[in-house]
Amino acid sequence: MSNQKGGVGKTSSAVNLAAALAEGGLTVLVIDMDPQGNASTALGIDRHADAMMGVYDVLVADRPLLRTVRPCPDVPDLWVAPATIDLAGAEIELVAIERREFRLREALDRLRQQLARNRIGAPDYVLIDCPPSLGLLTLNALVAADEVVIPIQCEYYALEGLTQLIRTVGLVQASLNPSLGLGAILLTMYDGRTRLAAQVAEEVRTHFPDTVLRATIPRTVRISEAPSYGQSVVTYEPNGVGAHSYREAARELAQRAAAKSQEGERA
Ligand code: ADP
Ligand code: MG
Repeated sequence: MSNQKGGVGKTSSAVNLAAALAEGGLTVLVIDMDPQGNASTALGIDRHADAMMGVYDVLVADRPLLRTVRPCPDVPDLWVAPATIDLAGAEIELVAIERREFRLREALDRLRQQLARNRIGAPDYVLIDCPPSLGLLTLNALVAADEVVIPIQCEYYALEGLTQLIRTVGLVQASLNPSLGLGAILLTMYDGRTRLAAQVAEEVRTHFPDTVLRATIPRTVRISEAPSYGQSVVTYEPNGVGAHSYREAARELAQRAAAKSQEGERA
């Protein structure tokens, strides 16, 4: 989940898509790359606990990712690599580290090897929640990922910065991660009562007809209050519109992934 704009729904989408995919029977790992740690908190992880290891230790101190992973208390098969407060320093500390853009990718490769050695299946999905910048933390996420999902808030200036983000994705693909693709655009905080939201949604769909998911996430207070209970909206209000729309979006993402892997097999 990436968009250098803050407050567009990256974290809400990472948390709720992860919960929806896990509820659907898949194993999901959420990697919290944002020093604010909102994804960790929303998934019920006490990121301030003593001796809690997190993504910082992986990126900067070479700790195995597996050592940091914690189970989400409310959702079986949902795991979290939390962001502890020291992650705020990683952006600067990484500058002095060799292969600084590849730290997360290499940690994920080692995690897969470690799981395989122990005859444990790798997670079906790894969702990475990016910070609101295009610095080294986001770069690590883009180098480790197969796809970028861009949440876009249906508000004024929705498309601001999008060109720069897509250019960054192109640069990473050309130089550091050839398998990176623009996976999906997810329209969030859609307020059906305003003309503006409809206009923004239409504009984004016109620019990116095949990339935008059909499912749109409505603006609902339940989505914004679920994190204060350490929950996703999928568990907090399982039958509400928020949970429903994130399940729809998760289903679309999974269907696209299945279609893509079939294409790959045919090729
Ligand atoms: P980001 O990670 O891009 O900064 P967040 O997911 O943290 O964005 O969302 C920003 C704020 O908007 C948070 O307070 C969040 O609870 C709220 N929010 C996100 N999605 C919705 C939604 N669909 N309806 C209402 N509030 C939302
Ligand atoms: Mg966030």
